[in-house]
Amino acid sequence: MAQPNESLTAHAVPQTLGVLGGGQLGRMFVHAAQRMGFFTAVLDPDPQSPAGRVSHHHICTEYTDPAGLARLAGLAMAVTTEFENVPAAALTELARHRPVAPGAAAVAIAQDRAAEKAYFAQCGVPCAPYAVVDTEAQLAAVADGLLPGILKTSRLGYDGKGQVRVRDRAELERAWHGLGGVPCVLEKLLPLQAECSVIVARGRDGTCVHLPIQRNLHRDGILAVTEVYEGNLPSALAARAVAAAQSIAQGLDYVGVLCVEFFVLDAQQAQGVGDLVVNEIAPRPHNSGHYSIDACDLSQFELQVRTLAGQPLVQPRLHSPAVMLNLLGDLWHGAHGGVQGIANEGAPAGAPAGAQATVQEPPWAQVLALPGSHLHLYGKTEAKPGRKMGHLTLTGASPEQARERANAAARLLGLPAL
Ligand code: ATP
Ligand code: MG
Repeated sequence: MAQPNESLTAHAVPQTLGVLGGGQLGRMFVHAAQRMGFFTAVLDPDPQSPAGRVSHHHICTEYTDPAGLARLAGLAMAVTTEFENVPAAALTELARHRPVAPGAAAVAIAQDRAAEKAYFAQCGVPCAPYAVVDTEAQLAAVADGLLPGILKTSRLGYDGKGQVRVRDRAELERAWHGLGGVPCVLEKLLPLQAECSVIVARGRDGTCVHLPIQRNLHRDGILAVTEVYEGNLPSALAARAVAAAQSIAQGLDYVGVLCVEFFVLDAQQAQGVGDLVVNEIAPRPHNSGHYSIDACDLSQFELQVRTLAGQPLVQPRLHSPAVMLNLLGDLWHGAHGGVQGIANEGAPAGAPAGAQATVQEPPWAQVLALPGSHLHLYGKTEAKPGRKMGHLTLTGASPEQARERANAAARLLGLPAL
């Protein structure tokens, strides 16, 4: 009979992985970590946070609270983040005690569009023509060639928030003042043929793997659809996007999961910009990678766990063509004619009956009756318009089948056809 293994006995208590932020990305990280045998600790000030509710430990403090950070460092063997706007000071403080991945320096670049674009130039990866607009003088000096454009706040934007489309100088000036005169970048409005993203995972030893390229459709600045299968984009273009994403990760000496978003352009119309430009990076798993849970043999969240825990990274493989539909809060107020009368838990007590009656649960039973339908709901109680409530991945034996199923689901949900 085999001798008891001392080292195994000593490690029988699961180790704990920590995450700053308790949104849906944290929740899916927690699910992956727990399945792989870890305990989890989430730090998020919201007692109802989607990840906090499913984690072994929920430290319910502000991100900069010294006691909260000390508790997280005390519990967790290593810490990651699920949103890029986590205060840099929190990461720096944690890094004094525990490995933190990604590191504060990489997160700081992703937090600031101007720093991000300067970094892309350093990597030799083209981005949209732009100008930094931090001052009145910079506003006045903006080149005519950048208009029409999109004015974006340098910090704290997401899901198209903090962005204004401007046609001319007068609109530009109004928009900058309307945004409070905060630091911004003005980007030239580009004629997009398509959008895509690449998710890479890089380990402490420099091993870098990637998910297959995602083709993304945005509506109103928010991701709506992601399609992943052979042929979703020309293969040479996909290879260049992957190479660019890898070089961006390598240049940052990045550890963790990183998403790089790109614009695909018609090279002729884009006048010298090229046919592939980088848009922005997210230092974490990304909405466009959620399909990997159901369609790949390794999901972006498993990759995040592996990078954090120092486990081996192997190249993920797409086993099923997939289409992901984002499920925004609008669906609970929509025209799909779903199941009426399911009260919105988030509605204030004593709210007039009409306020609740307008909330309808989408017709999940019909959606789940479609073959290859994988429903993910994030446990959020209030279905506000534009709020990410969940996602639905439709897998199929072929791209056509995945798309057909996605169109059937879209019809049931009252979403536009693909
Ligand atoms: P995210 O939620 O991805 O962080 P965000 O608020 O940072 O979004 P961006 O990615 O900068 O916003 O832009 C949102 C969308 O707006 C893009 O996916 C694209 O559809 C459109 N867009 C942004 N910049 C440009 C541009 N320069 N030209 C044309 N379209 C653009
Ligand atoms: Mg974006």
